[in-house]
Amino acid sequence: MPYCPKCQYEFKGTVTKCLDCGTELVEQLPTKQDIYVKWISLGKINSSVYAEMIREAMKNKGIESYSHSDLFHDVFSTTATSQAGSYEEIFVPEDKKELAKDIFDTMIQEDGEKE
Ligand SMILES: [Zn+2]
Repeated sequence: MPYCPKCQYEFKGTVTKCLDCGTELVEQLPTKQDIYVKWISLGKINSSVYAEMIREAMKNKGIESYSHSDLFHDVFSTTATSQAGSYEEIFVPEDKKELAKDIFDTMIQEDGEKE
């Protein structure tokens, strides 16, 4: 039976592409680790604390995420305690992009209004 590797749906008959997402079907369902996730960047935030808050909010909505920081670069190029110029870049799975972007934008805006 063909399966969609992305949705993990099983299809019957002569279907070759997932009716849901259009992905080419495979003969065997991959194990969870094999599922290909395309990570995309939501944007950069110049506060790691704030990046954590956004990631937490996304996690509450069931969105996995990870963030990449350039803090090491700044540790070596500026004084040890300064984080000026550093940022966290947040990545989410592409299929969750729109929901994640909503959360991201909402939190950025809330921050702007408070400051
Ligand atoms: Zn699918």
